[in-house]
Amino acid sequence: MDRAGRLTVGEALQRASLRLRKAGLEQPRDEAEILLAHLLGWSRLKLFLERSSELPAGSGAAFSAAVERRARHEPLAYITGEKEFYGLPFAVSPAVLIPRPETELLIDAVLEWARKREGKITGVDLGCGSGNLAVTLAYHLPEATFCAVDLSSEALELAKANALRHGVHERVCFVKGDFRQAPAFPQPLLRFNLIVSNPPYVERGELEELPATICNYEPLLALDGGPDGLAAYRGILAALPRYLERPGLMALEIGSGQGSALLALCRELDLFHQLDLLRDYRSLPRIITGLF
Ligand code: GLN
Repeated sequence: MDRAGRLTVGEALQRASLRLRKAGLEQPRDEAEILLAHLLGWSRLKLFLERSSELPAGSGAAFSAAVERRARHEPLAYITGEKEFYGLPFAVSPAVLIPRPETELLIDAVLEWARKREGKITGVDLGCGSGNLAVTLAYHLPEATFCAVDLSSEALELAKANALRHGVHERVCFVKGDFRQAPAFPQPLLRFNLIVSNPPYVERGELEELPATICNYEPLLALDGGPDGLAAYRGILAALPRYLERPGLMALEIGSGQGSALLALCRELDLFHQLDLLRDYRSLPRIITGLF
């Protein structure tokens, strides 16, 4: 502590990290640094270099408030308002699910398919949330156009801001609607040869068993998959024949226990000539892809 009683950067981080450790968080020091770096607009390297300087005037109370929010297990990304996905920063808010690392596999699968394909890609992201799927794909596929659908106006606003931030806003259109019924897509985007979605897939009865950091904060609309967790998939698959354009790819994120149920639902339809399950970093089935 310096003469005026203000903490140094190093001391503030030390205190915050003790508080977060006491709250049961696993990476208290990292999280304390992320929160303070965000608040000050500094890099973590600068935090280190300035560890003996006193905390900039006025930032102590804001830092304590942010640390207290995290100590109550509010997700870090909602406090900073940002989450990185596939190397790109996305604005997030409690109106949208926070992008997860395992969802990056869906991007890999689509980009691999796109590399081998000729012709224009017209994609649709069903339940776009922050826009992480449509925006990342549009960013990496400069010829493609996308439609991003969501029921939540707040989510759509955020997704639009993310599209603008990453310079793809001219190739992504946003549609408010329920993707379980084929939404009213704007002309001329009525047919799609790429269908992606990370729909809500948690079984309703299991919602309350999710960690507090998820079930107390993330939007139910993005998590609740109905009584058996499969409601959104049934809706997506039922509407698919009305807007798909062959040849194309469907890539959906799934819950780790839903692989065989999804394969069965897709096979019933007789739309796909190849179906595959892709495993995530923990070797759990996480993405289903279907070529149509
Ligand atoms: N992967 C999320 C979880 O951690 C669920 C996301 C979803 O329902 N699409 O529970």
